[in-house]
Amino acid sequence: MAAYGSTMPEVHETIAEFRAVLDQSRAQGQAIGLVPTMGYLHQGHASLLRQATVDNDLAVATIFVNPLQFAATEDLSTYPRDLDHDLALADECGIAHVFMPTVAEMYPEPILTTVSVAGITARFEGAARPEHFAGVATVVAKLLAIAGPCRAYFGEKDFQQLAVVRRMVADLSMPVQVVGCPIVRDHDGLALSSRNVYLSPGQRAAAPALYRGLRAASAMAATGERSVDAVLAPLRAAVVAAPGAVLDYAAVVQADTLEPAATVVGEQRVLVAVGFGATRLLDNVGLG
Ligand code: AMP
Repeated sequence: MAAYGSTMPEVHETIAEFRAVLDQSRAQGQAIGLVPTMGYLHQGHASLLRQATVDNDLAVATIFVNPLQFAATEDLSTYPRDLDHDLALADECGIAHVFMPTVAEMYPEPILTTVSVAGITARFEGAARPEHFAGVATVVAKLLAIAGPCRAYFGEKDFQQLAVVRRMVADLSMPVQVVGCPIVRDHDGLALSSRNVYLSPGQRAAAPALYRGLRAASAMAATGERSVDAVLAPLRAAVVAAPGAVLDYAAVVQADTLEPAATVVGEQRVLVAVGFGATRLLDNVGLG
């Protein structure tokens, strides 16, 4: 066990040590809640950590910036990190143990076995970032294999990722209950994200347009409008009007399969992705 300052969570850097802690806790009949993260924790992560603490006897987090899910051109080496802050926040949220492996611990050899989820990953983030979801599914499968039977918490902020994880867990009969948690937003509606620190002051001022547009789309759907284009029109307009914003996609999808909707009806989700310079922002809202 490594000690970091005076913070409370125990930090484990090896798979064997972390697994032993969870095995021992399960042997005592405790329910375990696991929150996988890439660190640089904010109040969005904190909501998952708190939910895991409330629902379970033992709540644990993982902090691992997973190289497999970054393309060569992406921000792996500059991904923001602040371990002292992360551990203090995890402590506040009731997290007892943090698994923080090195890349060498997770991938001692170049990995030959990967997990890829078809269908759900074909569009949206999967189209924009072709290797991304195989990297995510592989590391989540590995973390779940290390942790063993548990509840695992993921944010609706990354709605497609949540769908991918749910499907992987179901398809592979993993002994895990996936819990989706609502999006936590800043005071002006911007969904919290570790990558928001990359935004310039001008981009940050323009970024709440995503949520404004999503709310307008959801209000349009609430009037009974069935046309996908009509529901998306105010979202597209809000993004177009935001200085520096470049729309990647805006779509209405089935909430479970992520298939694009033909008409607006039932359990659906509006997804949006916008580029501000090199920074990609995602957001979504539920319909119905
Ligand atoms: P990350 O550290 O970005 O990999 O995120 C770890 C987990 O926190 C993922 O399940 C995210 O969906 C979730 N998360 C990130 N931001 C938010 C947010 N603003 N609200 C809710 N969950 C979030």
